[in-house]
Amino acid sequence: MNSFKIENLVRTNVAKMKPYSSARDEFKADGRKMTFLDANENPFENGVNRYPDPQQATLKSKIAELKGISTSKILLGNGSDEVLDLIFRAFCEPSQDNMISLPPTYGMYKVLAELNQIEDREVLLKVDFQPNVEEILNTVDDNTKLIFLCSPNNPTGNVFSMTLVEKLLNGFNGLVVIDEAYIDFSNEPGWLQALEDFPNLVVTQTLSKAYGLAGIRLGIGYASEEIIEILNKIKPPYNVNELTQQKAAERLRNPEEVEFEIKQILEQREYLEKELQKVDFVKKIYPSKTNFLLVRVDNADLRYSQLLEKGIVVRNRSNQPLCENTIRFTVGTKTENNRLINALNEIAG
Ligand SMILES: *Cc1c(COP(=O)(O)O)cnc(C)c1O
Repeated sequence: MNSFKIENLVRTNVAKMKPYSSARDEFKADGRKMTFLDANENPFENGVNRYPDPQQATLKSKIAELKGISTSKILLGNGSDEVLDLIFRAFCEPSQDNMISLPPTYGMYKVLAELNQIEDREVLLKVDFQPNVEEILNTVDDNTKLIFLCSPNNPTGNVFSMTLVEKLLNGFNGLVVIDEAYIDFSNEPGWLQALEDFPNLVVTQTLSKAYGLAGIRLGIGYASEEIIEILNKIKPPYNVNELTQQKAAERLRNPEEVEFEIKQILEQREYLEKELQKVDFVKKIYPSKTNFLLVRVDNADLRYSQLLEKGIVVRNRSNQPLCENTIRFTVGTKTENNRLINALNEIAG
């Protein structure tokens, strides 16, 4: 198809509006030492008395270098949840437009749709947890602005087939958002390198999972310059705070440390899987490209509360379609995983 034009997609009010121009936006650094009397800050230095860089230049160029993507194609947000919310606000007209999500999947797409008063058209994954492309394309109408894909998918743990995703990118004139929160645990290439080929592709990633920085809230959106420009225009000026920018940059300077942790988590996932196979009420362990395992048990509600009683908190996913009697186990440290295994064996009796 591809008569994709971003001008046709952006909301009229967003296209027309002028962004807030912050003190630090108006001032362009030229390398000289300046006296800052522009932003009504408290002048006494404590490390964070100044507003943070609204464009996060240092952190962005670090990410750009690491991912091999130009900074003009990167948007940073207060978690990827903010990036996703900005996408809704830029492109979806409340009580008029709709989006498509593919349950069982991450719960935030629906929450954001409800918050922004956008209809969420759900097209279930097939039994192999792959997208039902034909059904999705049949569900699209003139008001469908977004399709959300989560790959590797939470909670099913699998990666979507490249051929199927390409069919959606080619067959849909709105934005295809691919949430790659777990991509660093997989050996898959992901979709960043395909941005050149698909003007309607948006990829989101996060430092919350493999990078071990859930507490600082840093999400990343990647898309064409045109899309990023629109999202940049509507984002809150200081959406990524100074402490987050510093901490994230520091972590990105130590990729070997992150690699080492990922390696240990993947080894632990294998170990956990082997041990889970021995538990008699475990019926099925789904293959995972992530740092969690989706496991079908005999009675998820019962096993969930028994684990809770033993002080172990897991995620009961049974209320999700295709996930009856499933529990999602996050892979922890060796000690934590052994605690889980011991508890499961005790429960099994
Ligand atoms: C955990 C997770 C995220 C992370 O969101 P942040 O706001 O960046 O912490 C995003 N998408 C999925 C599918 C997740 O599971």
